[in-house]
Amino acid sequence: MTANTAHVIVGAGLGGAKAAQALREQGFQGPLVLIGEEREHPYERPPLSKGYLLGKDPREKAFVHPRQWYADHDVDLRLGATASALDPGAHRLTLSDGSRVDYAKLLLTTGASPRPLQVPGADLDGVLYLRTLADSDRLKTVFRSGARITVVGAGWIGLETAAAARAAGAEVVVLESAELPLLRVLGPEAAQVFADLHRDHGVDLRLGVQVDSITGESGTVTGVLLADGTRIESDAVVVGIGVAPNTGLAGAAGLSVDNGVVTDERLRTSAPDIYAAGDVASARHPLLGRHIRVEHWANALNQPQTAARAMLGQDVVYDRLPYFFSDQYDLGMEYTGYVEPGGYDRVVFRGDTAAREFIAFWLAGDRVLAGMNVNVWDVVEPVQALIRSGAAVDPARLADPQVALESLIPG
Ligand code: FAD
Ligand code: NAP
Repeated sequence: MTANTAHVIVGAGLGGAKAAQALREQGFQGPLVLIGEEREHPYERPPLSKGYLLGKDPREKAFVHPRQWYADHDVDLRLGATASALDPGAHRLTLSDGSRVDYAKLLLTTGASPRPLQVPGADLDGVLYLRTLADSDRLKTVFRSGARITVVGAGWIGLETAAAARAAGAEVVVLESAELPLLRVLGPEAAQVFADLHRDHGVDLRLGVQVDSITGESGTVTGVLLADGTRIESDAVVVGIGVAPNTGLAGAAGLSVDNGVVTDERLRTSAPDIYAAGDVASARHPLLGRHIRVEHWANALNQPQTAARAMLGQDVVYDRLPYFFSDQYDLGMEYTGYVEPGGYDRVVFRGDTAAREFIAFWLAGDRVLAGMNVNVWDVVEPVQALIRSGAAVDPARLADPQVALESLIPG
């Protein structure tokens, strides 16, 4: 490789693959290296808790590009390779096998890793996490009719895996330390919808509980002991208690790290010629006027494309509103916008919450900060326009399904 002309991407997930694609599409013809710790070529994670886990979608559908795409586009894809050290001054990476890779521009798309459950017994066989294809394969083997599955954490992983386990006929207990599932993201008004959804589908949802320990026999899990003394017999325990951004490489190299690798709105880190995008990046958002780190698919899809263009010297900023989706049983939802935990004054519902067919809007004063459509489709565009406009809205009109959303957007 010619020294210092290569563009190098560390992290071969969705973000890394999309960045490589964008660099080629934008005309970069120099050496392009994509380094990934996992042995699989880049894949998307949403199917791992949905279509693939449910057995509806084939494995191939999860991959961002077919394996051959990388060779066809002259991308030097190095799998099973970990970038273990970064020297920003020398523009050099060291990989765990001792080899070195010099870069002209570097993009970090190192993503995030599950937070480990830290209680006695958490290392027993049968205590499972869900981040990788291999994790999803393992869950498939334990989600069987009559199996007793205990899920720790009622966040996105917990709820989507609970739905998949129920679909397989398992008996499911979900344990959550907060008073409602998804409470931090949705607040109590909308979080209640998800509590009702899971209970209606036969999940034993236990809220406000603390896991004391995992019990086992001969190295294998047999149950969960709660702090109040309750024991839950379990054949497997799935842990989904959040993720931490993979900032080790950047932090050790002296880059600014604060709940993620800190970037400006052009996705430039504090070090020259180094960019960051996807789950690992805490990027300044020009519209929101603050740094945010988004742990969702659309951000990993789009942000690296902006980073790639910035690496090529284009005058770009990343100003998309956060967006994500989820599917659980017969409920499909999309959420867009951004609200700090508790950072809203009221939630306005438009539609039928009992039938789980509605749009929820989070308001600060009379401004819309975020919207979530549940089993209502093709509304993300007007909801985003409403948020971007910053316009004052009449809550009664916002709540009225007869009033077109477009009519609430000024201009
Ligand atoms: P990652 O996907 O974490 O990829 C980073 C890659 O970098 C990993 O392969 C990692 O091994 C590698 N890496 C890390 N450090 C190094 C290093 N030093 N050297 C080499 N390689 C390294 N979002 C939604 O919006 N909707 C959904 O329905 C949804 N479903 C999901 C379901 C599951 C099961 C999971 C786990 C996530 C889901 N998400 C969903 C979130 C979404 O998948 C993530 O936001 C997205 O994967 C982030 O992509 P990324 O490329 O930034 O990071
Ligand atoms: P998450 O969405 O952050 O949810 C973690 C949940 O676990 C929170 O409700 C949290 O409550 C709770 N919790 C934390 N510690 C706990 C404990 N010791 N006992 C019981 N509950 C505990 O994280 P996740 O569900 O693990 O998902 C991992 C990542 O994958 C996230 O980045 C997520 O965005 C992504 N993902 C996204 C989707 C989607 O967008 N559809 C689907 C799957 C995964 P507190 O908030 O009160 O701490």
